[in-house]
Amino acid sequence: MKKRLVLLGASGSIGRQTIDVVLQHPDLYEITALSVGRNIAELKRILSEVSVKDVCVIEEAAMRSLQEEYPDIRFCCGDEGLLRLAEMDYDLLVNALVGFAGFAPTLRAIETGHDVALANKETLVVGGELIKKALQQYGRKLYPIDSEHSAIFQCMQGNDAKNIKRLIITASGGAFRNKSRDELADVTAAEALAHPNWSMGDKITIDSATMMNKGFEVMEAHWLFDMDYDRIDVLMHAESVIHSMVEYIDHSVIAQLGAPDMRLPIQYALSWPDRFELHQDEPLDLAKIGTLHFAAPDTDRFPLLKLAYDTGRKGGNLPAVMNAANESANAAFRKGIIPFLKIEEIIIGAVNSAEYKEIRDVDDLLEADAWGTAYADKIIRGEE
Ligand code: MG
Repeated sequence: MKKRLVLLGASGSIGRQTIDVVLQHPDLYEITALSVGRNIAELKRILSEVSVKDVCVIEEAAMRSLQEEYPDIRFCCGDEGLLRLAEMDYDLLVNALVGFAGFAPTLRAIETGHDVALANKETLVVGGELIKKALQQYGRKLYPIDSEHSAIFQCMQGNDAKNIKRLIITASGGAFRNKSRDELADVTAAEALAHPNWSMGDKITIDSATMMNKGFEVMEAHWLFDMDYDRIDVLMHAESVIHSMVEYIDHSVIAQLGAPDMRLPIQYALSWPDRFELHQDEPLDLAKIGTLHFAAPDTDRFPLLKLAYDTGRKGGNLPAVMNAANESANAAFRKGIIPFLKIEEIIIGAVNSAEYKEIRDVDDLLEADAWGTAYADKIIRGEE
């Protein structure tokens, strides 16, 4: 039996690489439904490669014209459409959406009895507690697609989680890892988008340059592996060859290494506990690389990493506020509206100004998200 996948965010970087993995194993996997945002040209290209039954797009007008062009496919649209795909009959949801938009479909998929392969880290950053409760209640599993978390998951195989001393998440440091704080003042979005090691979507590449991404990954690890923040460390590792490590109580450190190719963590999330062949043009060649570098992270230079630890420990609505402020500030920097260092100023300001509230349900989360967005947008518009 083929594993039937629903793929959310099919036209993004992770989405396209997921399709590539599926096309490498047509006997093992099939995509029965997918979503894209506004990139209809890319959707049409995808539909020429894979045959799916259901498709969700953002806009209603696009949905109507697509429905005429592809009468054999059922189309739906908007947030409601994403939830509809999440509820269908299939084996595994691959969530490659970007941002807070990924949360609700993840929760709905779990609540309707599905396992989820998660590339949307914001889901756990904002609503880790709700997701964890739902996983327990409905007896479902979450498989990490983020390369660091896939590495940790791989390093845990065959070991008892109770014997873990700490998780070591590696960080390339992003596009500006060699710049001083003074130099960071006038870097541009174009410079930030040239990530040295990984080819990723625009939003996450900026998050890498600010280290917000690494902060999110610490929080993601906290929820995925049920680990205290005191037992999650970040280690600078410029080459991105070691994707992360696990130290056990006997001080044995197990690492996962590989070429910087997201198709491996994607495929492992689909194939676990098995492994299948994966074609890579340039598999890891350590002799060619020669030297690996490591250093402790400098939280003075990248304060968002420290903020993520502090905010994760406080919990409640604050992670959702932090994420919302980041989404607005990240987008404003990409549009050239605010300078690079303003991003962290906005996010830190949002978290410090927010009043702590508990998150009991999705409505609380939406409220926290709206508050963080409004706070950030006000500063971006120059009203404060
Ligand atoms: Mg990552």
